[in-house]
Amino acid sequence: MLDKTRSYSDVSLLIEGQWQAAAAGETLPVENPATGEVIGQVAWARREDLDRAIESAQTAFRQWRDVPAYNRAKMLRKASDLLRERADDIARLMTLEQGKPVAQSRIETLGAADTLEWFSEEARRAYGRVIPARGAHVTQLATKHPVGPVAAFTPWNFPLNQAVRKVSIALAAGCSIILKGPEETPASVAELIRCYMDAGVPAGVISLVYGVPAEISEYLIPHPAIRKVSFTGSTAVGKHLAALAGQHMKRNTMELGGHAPTMIFDDADIAQAVKATAAAKFRNAGQVCIAPTRFMVQEGVFDTVVDQFVEAARQIQVGNGLDEGTTMGPLAHERRPGAVAELIEDARSKGAEIRLGGRAIDGPGYFFEPTVIVNATRDMRIMNEEPFGPVVVFTSFKTVDDAIEEANRLEYGLAAYAFTSSMHTTARLTHEVEAGMLSINHIGLALPETPFGGVKDSGYGSEGGSEAIEAYLETRFVTTASP
Ligand code: NAD
Repeated sequence: MLDKTRSYSDVSLLIEGQWQAAAAGETLPVENPATGEVIGQVAWARREDLDRAIESAQTAFRQWRDVPAYNRAKMLRKASDLLRERADDIARLMTLEQGKPVAQSRIETLGAADTLEWFSEEARRAYGRVIPARGAHVTQLATKHPVGPVAAFTPWNFPLNQAVRKVSIALAAGCSIILKGPEETPASVAELIRCYMDAGVPAGVISLVYGVPAEISEYLIPHPAIRKVSFTGSTAVGKHLAALAGQHMKRNTMELGGHAPTMIFDDADIAQAVKATAAAKFRNAGQVCIAPTRFMVQEGVFDTVVDQFVEAARQIQVGNGLDEGTTMGPLAHERRPGAVAELIEDARSKGAEIRLGGRAIDGPGYFFEPTVIVNATRDMRIMNEEPFGPVVVFTSFKTVDDAIEEANRLEYGLAAYAFTSSMHTTARLTHEVEAGMLSINHIGLALPETPFGGVKDSGYGSEGGSEAIEAYLETRFVTTASP
């Protein structure tokens, strides 16, 4: 049993390699979402702090880009080792501030270490090209260069996994980075960044700031020192930040929302499909951009799938993430239960049947019942807007064409799932589903070595696999003729 009472330390900014209070001394409160209690404070950066972070990111960039890739790789590798060593403590902090069961926090921390290790290896593979020339004694080189200081913005749902991708890719490429971490879950992110620093990453290469998100993004993105922007969060905010980056000709990567279609065909292994999707749906209380959400089940197996899924959802143990046996914690902050409840009420008022759950749980903390909705129709908000909570909505379909049409109906295009034993159906889905990631017959997304990103309104750019580092590099061309 973990110690629930041990104190949670206040969180500082990291600027010029020093952990420090904000210049104006301001802070924001951090809550434990399982109890609603304030457990600490996080430093609130204002313009003066941001200016120092920008200046040190510029200075550090000029040094870091010249550190040989071999040495950068070694430091990142060491940081991944430190993260593994510290996983238990970091997992506990994450559960205190974010709410997810501590076993899930631990998996996330170890997953972040894997990501760090993968990008440490990528640091040594940022290859250019030699292009055969048209003339004798001419050399043509495509060379790769780090794009420059990065401004990155990460959310609270996976405090480590969102931050580790951006920071590790930037550092692997030779960029410096200013990370605006999530104010709701700052301590676990700070401990992640401490691993890089303890592994020898020089002062100024990483700055960590917190504050008012809009205030920070509106200042950093247009700033001439910043050469690249990376954001993970909602589509609405992502479009706003991408437009701002566009106005200032900044490259950007946008990892935005999703509403993952999950297609279960008559010929699927139903028990396996239900087991896999129920586990994935309620992980992190459904606050997962790639969570299976819009379930579409072929008519012949609809009742069986819904019955089995409801049974699986009933087994979820909702509680404090530090308690043994808890399989789903609270929603991460006080804005979420109301937002999720609104979508469910809208569906209920338009004729949907709430087969299980449907309500916020009374008492302290932001707990919500695992919820299963059937008889949903397209006019309901839940069929169109990302619920970002422990809610699943079921509809039925007749043909493969119907399933594909519904899967592609929304402007989201992040993750999609399908369960079928037909090669023909698999081939059609592979070619026709408009999603950045498609997982068939299992839940197999978000590994460090595989692409991670969306299409359509879910954003652009990949934060996984060998594609990821390209976004942090610019290609230059040099041609030389021998005199
Ligand atoms: P929100 O829109 O207030 O914030 C979402 C995230 O964006 C937060 O991390 C926030 O700090 C950041 N943000 C908001 N405005 C910003 C700005 N102007 N500049 C920079 N960053 C900004 O909503 P919320 O209640 O915190 O989260 C709910 C919604 O956010 C969900 O519906 C979901 O779509 C989205 N979300 C997505 C992810 C993801 O992994 N893609 C993660 C967390 C939240």
